[in-house]
Amino acid sequence: MKALVKKGKGVSNLRIQEVAIPEMGEKDVLIRVNAGAICGSDLHIMYDRFPTAIPVVIGHEFSGVIEEVGSGVKGCKRGDRVIAEATIETCGGCFYCKTGNSHVCRDRKYLGVMVDGAFAEYVKIPARLLHRMPEGMSFEEASLAEPASIAIHALIEDNRVEVGDFVAVLGSGSIGLLGAQIAKTVGAGKVLITGIEPDVPVRFKVAEELGVCDYIVNADKEDPVKVVREATGGIGADIVLDTTGSPHALGQAFEMVRRKGVIAALGYGEDTLEVPWNKMIREAIRIQFCLSSTSTSFEKFCSLVSQGRLKLRPLITEQYPLREWKKAFRSMERRESVKALLIP
Ligand SMILES: [Zn+2]
Ligand SMILES: [Zn+2]
Repeated sequence: MKALVKKGKGVSNLRIQEVAIPEMGEKDVLIRVNAGAICGSDLHIMYDRFPTAIPVVIGHEFSGVIEEVGSGVKGCKRGDRVIAEATIETCGGCFYCKTGNSHVCRDRKYLGVMVDGAFAEYVKIPARLLHRMPEGMSFEEASLAEPASIAIHALIEDNRVEVGDFVAVLGSGSIGLLGAQIAKTVGAGKVLITGIEPDVPVRFKVAEELGVCDYIVNADKEDPVKVVREATGGIGADIVLDTTGSPHALGQAFEMVRRKGVIAALGYGEDTLEVPWNKMIREAIRIQFCLSSTSTSFEKFCSLVSQGRLKLRPLITEQYPLREWKKAFRSMERRESVKALLIP
């Protein structure tokens, strides 16, 4: 089968290759991939900015149809339309695995990073990680399950958006735009989203189309801290969701969060960051680092989608056949796309 493989160090070592169809274990299913979505971390892998098991088929955001079921698998069958959690392997025995937090297991292996992923014609997944696609949902929309589940985990599971909250979302990539919708659908009073100049043509247009953002702020032209202060009568945001990891944006997060408010951190950034320690002590600010997603956040994604409470279509701004992956990656890199899909 054809697959997008990271073969070694260097940008030129990411390429389409003929590889064997994955061999199934008895607890696995083989899925024919219908749509794969490109994530920021796929770009990091291309540039060797992310520890990766080489060689590896990349891609962890996908949807597809079960082609083959392992002999020990119950509860699903050939032809089922599915999505899957991307934490493929955990040790199963450590403190975190045993206490329902396997997403922080030290031995966790992520799809398309440490085990062969989904930018291919077929992908092998342990059956316990599958979720059935909600009725009426297209494969394209379903391929956004993983980033949506990450935003759900950050805003509903690790933190809880309360009715009437002012939620500031920093960054208007897919997780930011999904986060804005999730915050609003669970009751946020006002939602603000930020971006920078290159986000204006496509990502801000999508933010407008979604109709959930009360404020869309170009941080290159306007000070988001001032906007939040004015909009909240000087109080500040109840929750700031950072998807950028940018030291500049995080500096603003410390200024715009209210006393006793929460900064929910999702974006990878610099290894170290200066923090206004005394201000945070005085104002009793909480920073919650929200890693990855969980089985329950995938379930909540399916539930929100079946109730028609998430618009996914506007986020899919481009689609390419797998062989044209370079065009798709370039478009993501230049922020001309919110999500570019690869269709094997
Ligand atoms: Zn992702
Ligand atoms: Zn473990």
